[in-house]
Amino acid sequence: ARTLIAGNWKMNGLRSSLVEIVAIAGGVTPARENVEALICVPATLLMQAADQARESDLKIGGETCHANESGAHTGDVSAEMLADAGASYVIVGHSERRADHGETSEVVAAQAAAALRAGITPIICVGETAAERDSGKAIEVVTSMLRESLPTGAGADSLVIAYEPVWAIGTGNVATVEAVDEMHNALRESLSDVFGADADLIPILYGGSMKPGNAADLLAVKNVNGGLIGGASLKAADFLAIYAAA
Ligand code: 13P
Repeated sequence: ARTLIAGNWKMNGLRSSLVEIVAIAGGVTPARENVEALICVPATLLMQAADQARESDLKIGGETCHANESGAHTGDVSAEMLADAGASYVIVGHSERRADHGETSEVVAAQAAAALRAGITPIICVGETAAERDSGKAIEVVTSMLRESLPTGAGADSLVIAYEPVWAIGTGNVATVEAVDEMHNALRESLSDVFGADADLIPILYGGSMKPGNAADLLAVKNVNGGLIGGASLKAADFLAIYAAA
């Protein structure tokens, strides 16, 4: 699989933050072979971020989408709207969406299908809570979450998966290399059950307190094909340091 270094700005960023996009775009251009850089921004910044990144090798993405193309869904944004604004990716099923908005894996699969319909790549997020890990069920929980969140009929070349343990997000408690290795191997195996040999085309990102100081170790794990970075993607210097470690 190719390597994808992706930022998730979450509910952060004003127009004044676009200087970071400009700096990141400059830092990742020209692209290195087989390494892609992406920043997913709030919907309010999408068009301007995409404009700033247009002449560069930086991709811009959205953070969620509605399953429908249009209609009476006040406040929602469709995958077609994201594509129209310049997005080439969209995050779906982030644990914050699952928790704050009650999005089930069935909803996430429909959102991922909507992304494919709109011609953009879904980044499907899965991860276990601390309680689920403590009970020894992390692998089982996360692999079934993956199975249920996959859109039907998708090609392996049009998907990205992100493993984000909930307890590692925004906490500074990064998962151990051993735990990441075990989980990513299990995810690759689950993907092989669905896609056969093509499963190797699907980047599996790690997310959760990835920083310049720990990125090299995490990105060196066999089935880790990149990162989904929250806090450390808000400043160009941090994001570019992680990109350099890939
Ligand atoms: P942090 O890097 O801030 O822990 O966030 C990870 C994340 O949720 C990315 O989607």
